[in-house]
Amino acid sequence: MKLKIAVQKSGRLYEDSLRLLKECGITIANGGNKLKAEAANFPIEVYFLRDDDIPQYVEDGVADIGIAGENVVYEKRKQVDVQEKLGFGKCRLSIAVSKNETFSQPWLNGKRIATSYPVLLQQYLDKQNISAEIHEISGSVEIAPGIGLADAICDLVSSGSTLLTNGLKEVETILFSQAVLISSKELSSEKENLVQKLLFRIRAVQKARNNKYVLLNAPDNKLEDIIKLLPGMKSPTVLPLATKGWSSVHSVLQEDDFWDIIEQLKAAGAEGILVVPIEKMII
Ligand code: ATP
Ligand code: ZN
Repeated sequence: MKLKIAVQKSGRLYEDSLRLLKECGITIANGGNKLKAEAANFPIEVYFLRDDDIPQYVEDGVADIGIAGENVVYEKRKQVDVQEKLGFGKCRLSIAVSKNETFSQPWLNGKRIATSYPVLLQQYLDKQNISAEIHEISGSVEIAPGIGLADAICDLVSSGSTLLTNGLKEVETILFSQAVLISSKELSSEKENLVQKLLFRIRAVQKARNNKYVLLNAPDNKLEDIIKLLPGMKSPTVLPLATKGWSSVHSVLQEDDFWDIIEQLKAAGAEGILVVPIEKMII
């Protein structure tokens, strides 16, 4: 018995999806060219599909789990469980208008909006009490205003450079999206166990990615101040250095407050600060 996972065949999610599996100890021999690949060291089969089709395959149980963007998962409104945000494929679904437009709501009332995300856009418009005309198009949405097909667009944005080159500006965000792990609602208990096993690994990898291992040297008379700055998993490790009156302090810091704390540590007398990536973190 093998768990079947659907991942994007090629595109923005492909590499990160395979990298995540690899970091979870699941290695797949040269995937991309094939429809299907097997892992050597975990009972899993990988199916390579178009991202838009992944929620459907998981709903139908053709795949047990899948990796897709939240934008696709919510647009398709399939009956699947969202198990975990995966921290990559980050983008936003935004409304953009010509950069010369002075925009403030209810500007969109009565306008034509081109998008590949009619469901999410309609939900947003309903919530805002705006009535606008939705033009569903499947690709190159960003050229629609320029050719007179629409007054505005609703499309995925990450850096915003595509908007810029098309003379558009982002005015409203309707969804912040990232890749998620979805699962079928009808898994056997055996498969459910495998999903939990995989999720345990994914969480350990994600936690590790968000944390750094920090080592520093400190004079013993400054230790108390320095330890106060460090959270650690339980509390920091303190080891004596060969030089009398000095200690080495080890701890784990979150990426988010990392630079702040490093500055404070230096100010408190820490020296020789080393920062090391963590591969897996289990708490
Ligand atoms: P496929 O052939 O699989 O249908 P695609 O062209 O629809 O590919 P990609 O452009 O590879 O898909 O995007 C896949 C997913 O990557 C998107 O659904 C979205 O979740 C995410 N993504 C992240 N940043 C962006 C971005 N700037 N533009 C589009 N998608 C993005
Ligand atoms: Zn697609």
